Amino acid sequence: MDVAARFFGDYSRCRHAALRTHFGDKNVPKECHACDVCCARRLGLIGYGRPRTRDAFPEAQKLVHLTSVLHGHGVTFVRLRNLALGRQLPTNSVSDRLFAADAESQPEFGALKCLGQRAVEKLIPQLLQKQVLSLNRCLNNGPRNGKAKLAVQRLSAGRAMHRFWRRDVPITLEVCVAPGDTDDAGSADELTQDLEQLMSQC
Ligand SMILES: [Zn+2]
Repeated sequence: MDVAARFFGDYSRCRHAALRTHFGDKNVPKECHACDVCCARRLGLIGYGRPRTRDAFPEAQKLVHLTSVLHGHGVTFVRLRNLALGRQLPTNSVSDRLFAADAESQPEFGALKCLGQRAVEKLIPQLLQKQVLSLNRCLNNGPRNGKAKLAVQRLSAGRAMHRFWRRDVPITLEVCVAPGDTDDAGSADELTQDLEQLMSQC
C-alpha cells in the first residue's frame, strides 16, 4: 500500500520507466509519452525535473533571527511579517515604542522588503509547519490594566530550531514571485487560511 502510494505520488518520473526499472529492466527509455506523468509534462503542468522552488534559507534565517532577538517583546505572525517588510510599527503605548525602537535597530528589519508580502507569508507558515518556530497562546494585559486579557499567538523557537541552523530543515520559496508584491487584500485571506490550517493541526 505504502509502495503504491509512493509510486503514484511521485510525479518526477514516467510511470512506465519507474515500473520497468523497479522490475530490473536496465535499458529503459526516460519517457513513454503515454502515461499521466508524460502527458502532464507535455502540457507544461510538470517541469522536466527542474525545481520550481529554490532554497530560502537566507530569508528564513532573517525571520528566525528576528523572532529570537525580539522574543522578549512578544512576536506575533503579523508583527514578524511587518518587521521583515520594514513596515512602520505602532507607537501607541510605552511597550509599543520600546518594541519599535528595538525592532528597527535590527539589521533584519525590512530585509525582506523586496521579496514582498506574499512570499513572506509563505515562509512563516513553513517555519511553523516544520517546527522551526512554534505558536504559543499567551494572555496579554488588555487596555484596562489587566482586567481584560487578550489572547495572542506568539512565536517562539520550535523543536526543529537547531536542525534549521544546521541547515537540516529545507525551507523553500517558489521561484516566480513578483518582487515588491504588496497586495494586502488578497494576501490577508491567504494569511487567514494559512493560520486556520495551522490551528487545525495543533
Ligand atoms: Zn510515461
